[in-house]
Amino acid sequence: MTRYLITSALPYINGVKHLGNLAGSLLPADIHARFRRQTGADTLFICATDEHGTPAELAAAEVGVDVATYCARQHEVQADIYRWLNLSFDYFGRSSSARSHALTQHFFARLDEHGFIEERTLWQIFSVADDRFLPDRYVIGTCPHCGSVRARGDQCEDCTRPLDPQDLLSPRSAISGATGLELRPTRHLFLRQSALEGELREWLSSRSGWPPLVRSIARKWLDEGIRDRCITRDLSWGVPVPKPGFEKKVFYVWFDAPIAYIAASQDWADVDPARRDWQSWWFEASDVRYLQFLGKDNVPFHAVSFPCTLLGSREPWKTVDVIKGVNWLTYEGGKFSTSAGRGIFLDQALNLMPADRWRWWLTAHAPESADTDFSFARFAADVDHDLADTFGNFVQRVLSFIVSRCDGIVPDGGAPGPEEARLTEEIARLTTELRAQHEALALRKTADAARAIWKAANLYLVSRAPWTLIKSDPAEAALVLRTAVNLIGIGARAAWPIIPDAADKALAAIGEREVIPTFPSADDLTRIPPERLIDHPGLLFEKLGPQWAETQHARFAGKEGESFAGRDDSSLNGAPCPRALS
Ligand SMILES: [Zn+2]
Repeated sequence: MTRYLITSALPYINGVKHLGNLAGSLLPADIHARFRRQTGADTLFICATDEHGTPAELAAAEVGVDVATYCARQHEVQADIYRWLNLSFDYFGRSSSARSHALTQHFFARLDEHGFIEERTLWQIFSVADDRFLPDRYVIGTCPHCGSVRARGDQCEDCTRPLDPQDLLSPRSAISGATGLELRPTRHLFLRQSALEGELREWLSSRSGWPPLVRSIARKWLDEGIRDRCITRDLSWGVPVPKPGFEKKVFYVWFDAPIAYIAASQDWADVDPARRDWQSWWFEASDVRYLQFLGKDNVPFHAVSFPCTLLGSREPWKTVDVIKGVNWLTYEGGKFSTSAGRGIFLDQALNLMPADRWRWWLTAHAPESADTDFSFARFAADVDHDLADTFGNFVQRVLSFIVSRCDGIVPDGGAPGPEEARLTEEIARLTTELRAQHEALALRKTADAARAIWKAANLYLVSRAPWTLIKSDPAEAALVLRTAVNLIGIGARAAWPIIPDAADKALAAIGEREVIPTFPSADDLTRIPPERLIDHPGLLFEKLGPQWAETQHARFAGKEGESFAGRDDSSLNGAPCPRALS
């Protein structure tokens, strides 16, 4: 039987993430992991914080703590938020763990042994006062385009134009402010990706089921000519390079970050080594199907760079079977922006309301074929319609009626007729559709299929009108109510991967408490027997309404321009290699 290995893109350590990070990788991965567990498949869901690199060092310096302490704290902050969001990681690790360091050095040694590592000389900015080479981001100065005085050597914060350090006017060190900067030659290590191009193409063409977006990004990278990648940096925070002459350098964060998927699985196994075998998931793991979930900016590193590391090691490591990548979530018509304080961060989202509504909206409107724009007005209208009026209302109507008219006992009597036969066919069709959409990793269509089940349940209830039948034909009314209770079970099982809190509450109310509710089928229409005592879960979803949306819109617009200390949605994804400046 196939086992499922699922990883979400690693959130960068530097501060609380925003809704876009949740929509792009964390949530889709969680939904798929929950679905696989529902179907009884052996599933391992791994994530970790990506902790190395310049932004972590700079952020730690800004708050005045050492970078290890900073990362430890930030990891806990993120882990708490993900627990609140009901992200069901089997393990949420750290790329700075001892396992991660050892495994990164292992991969480097194997790649070096097989001739895929090459030393090259680059010209880089050296700060005499700091006695060190400066990564691009550590050189600050005045932007030659817009005159901003807070431009960095890789990009201007204000006009967002990409820059080279030598473009800056009045350049100085971000560490000390020193202006004594000069170009000096320095040795770096390159991963010879070009030597692996043929193998990589072959590997890529052996993969199937990738969304067109992901496949085209991967092909573009290969067709534009795969470049050798510099995998060393002049930093102290990171995985040390185990090679003489490189004592002051560490590996580039993008070399070690994906290795943390494997290292976090080792850390997971270390918790209970007698029962957990990380190697069976990653090494000679032919019965494992490996799925990665990530935003489109991460595709090149997962479709090209990480496979190069794994293939070039000449060891039988598991490579990814399917990469699910998505477009961007935008905010009220523009970009999420940390520096401009624009957008909703996950701690703010959870302060507004618990996880389910966020999870539902970001699934039902996932940025799959194009970017999706979040607005409070659309959000409130959509979740009110789907969760309060459709799913919540059905649960509410059926259970209040049984509690008030049948003493909370699922009534006995009646026999299924043609309407129930039609309903059975409909539920069989819809649950098959739901499963197919999960398997296709189609987020919006998965939400559509769940919603279709809730709608079918509402239609059945309205057409059979047990509140009228109970006067004329109590046995028939009993049959309809019993079927409706079972429809709650089916609707909640269908909803569980997306809105686990509400689904668990609804299932508990009808006496179906399960840690992992099984995937629904038409057989579940007769699952709950007569005479079972049920309860009322209370209102599952109160309506938000347009007024709420207007209030939030105004409130968040007023926050724009505020500084969000410790929050940084910038990532190293686009960070270029140190360039030859000569
Ligand atoms: Zn500028």
